[in-house]
Amino acid sequence: MIGKHYIQQGTLQEALVLIVDDEPINAMVVADLLSNLYQTKVVHSGEEALAFCRQQTPDLILLDVMMPGISGLETCRAIKNNQSLQHIPVIFITSVKSQNDENKCWEAGGVDFVNKPVNGITLLNRVKAHLTLKMQSDFLRRMSFTDGLTGLYNRHLLEEVLTKSILQSKRTQSPLSLFMLDIDWFKLFNDSYGHLSGDQCLIAVSKVLKEVLHRPVDMSFRYGGEEFLCLLPDTDSLGAQHIAKTILQKVADLNIPHESSPYGIVSLSIGIYSSTVHNECFKANEVIRSADKALYLAKQKGRNQFVC
Ligand code: GH3
Ligand code: MG
Ligand code: MG
Repeated sequence: MIGKHYIQQGTLQEALVLIVDDEPINAMVVADLLSNLYQTKVVHSGEEALAFCRQQTPDLILLDVMMPGISGLETCRAIKNNQSLQHIPVIFITSVKSQNDENKCWEAGGVDFVNKPVNGITLLNRVKAHLTLKMQSDFLRRMSFTDGLTGLYNRHLLEEVLTKSILQSKRTQSPLSLFMLDIDWFKLFNDSYGHLSGDQCLIAVSKVLKEVLHRPVDMSFRYGGEEFLCLLPDTDSLGAQHIAKTILQKVADLNIPHESSPYGIVSLSIGIYSSTVHNECFKANEVIRSADKALYLAKQKGRNQFVC
C-alpha cells in the first residue's frame, strides 16, 4: 500500500541550505539572499561543514573552494564518499577562472558552480533548480523504500542495509546496535479504539523513533504490523540502552490512552542486540533473531521495558 497522503514531497521552504565560506562577509551576503526562502545555516570551514553534516543532513550545500584547512574540493569529496550524505547536491562558489580548476570542481562531485562576485539572481535560480531536483529524487527514493503509513523504511531495504552495516562495523571494529520494538497489547488497542486509531498510534510511535534517532547513519524500519526495527551503527550497548530509555520515555510522554493495558497508556517493549568485537561474521538474520529473543524476554518480564 502506498499511502500518498502520508508520503509527501518536502516543500522548498523546508529545505536546509548549508553555506560554507571562511570569509564571514561572503557567507553573510549569500545567507541574506537565501534566508527568506529556505532554512539556512552558515559555517566557516570544511571541518565545521563535515561536523554539521554528522548532526543534520542539509538538502543542499554552497561551498567555497579556497579555504584554509580542508579545502572546498576535499570537503566535497568527503561528502560524496559518505553513503548517507552523497545525495546532497554541492554547488561551488568560486573565483577560479581556469578550465582546469573548473574541471576539478566537477571531478570532486559538485553539481554546479556560481562565480564570485556572486550574481544574486543566478545564485537564487541555481539553488532553486537543484533543490527542486533534490526534493523530487528524495521523494522517489522514499516511495520505493519507505512504508506508506509511517514513512519509515520498509523491510525491502533492511537486509541489504543490515548486511552492509555488519561488514562495516567488522571492518572498522566499531560497535553496532539493533533494536526490535513491538507495541504492547496492540491487538487490544485496535479492539478498543478501532483500526484507524491504531494507525494513528503507529504514526505517532514512528515519529518518536525519527526524533530520537537523529544521527545520519541511524535508520528505523517498520518491520511488520506494529513491529519496528532500529539500526544504530557506531553505538555500543551503553549508548543503545540510553536511546532505548529515551524512546520508552517519549512514547510514555505521548500519553495515548490504552484502557486494556495495566499502564493505562500505549507502551513499547524493546529487545536490544549490541556488539563491540567482531571476530566472527554475523549474518543479518542472526542479529535480528538475537534482538527478537531479547524482545521476547522484555515481553515476559512485563512489557514497557527494554532487555539487552
Ligand atoms: P504484545 O504486547 O504481546 O505485543 O501484544 P499484541 O496485542 O501487540 O500482540 P501482537 O504483536 O501479536 O499483535 C499484533 C496486532 O497488531 C495485530 C493487529 O491487531 C495489530 N496490527 C498489525 N498491523 C497493524 C496495522 O497496520 N494497523 C493497525 N491499526 N493495527 C495493526
Ligand atoms: Mg505487540
Ligand atoms: Mg507484534
